[in-house]
Amino acid sequence: MDNKAYLVPNPMTPCQNVVIDPELCSVCHSCVEVCRTDVFVPNPEKGKPPIVLYPDECWFCGNCVEHCPVPGAIRMQHPLNQRIGWKRKETGEYFRVGMKNPPPPNLRPPAGIERITK
Ligand code: SF4
Ligand code: SF4
Repeated sequence: MDNKAYLVPNPMTPCQNVVIDPELCSVCHSCVEVCRTDVFVPNPEKGKPPIVLYPDECWFCGNCVEHCPVPGAIRMQHPLNQRIGWKRKETGEYFRVGMKNPPPPNLRPPAGIERITK
């Protein structure tokens, strides 16, 4: 039996959670450090951007984008089914495609607002 450990990517899915622009990336590895689900691994090729090895394990928390020191070097890409929708012009509410009877506008103040404004 061989005692080697192998790093194997998950099966490919249509999910492409984050996109790194290799032209802008400074290879600081900040995104690798802050990602709590270890979606990235450092690139074995020196000077190349991290590899998005486990995109389907992304929580879409945005940490990697927030901590990237180079604007535009990394951007999030939400799943396709969450990008398609429609907005109610009057309120800015967002609805998923396929909702036949969207609810009336929610006019209730956010929970806890009384405590903050007192
Ligand atoms: S959005 Fe969050 S979970 Fe997803 S790759 Fe970035 S840091 Fe990791
Ligand atoms: S944090 Fe930004 S600049 Fe640094 S390695 Fe990740 S994408 Fe590149």
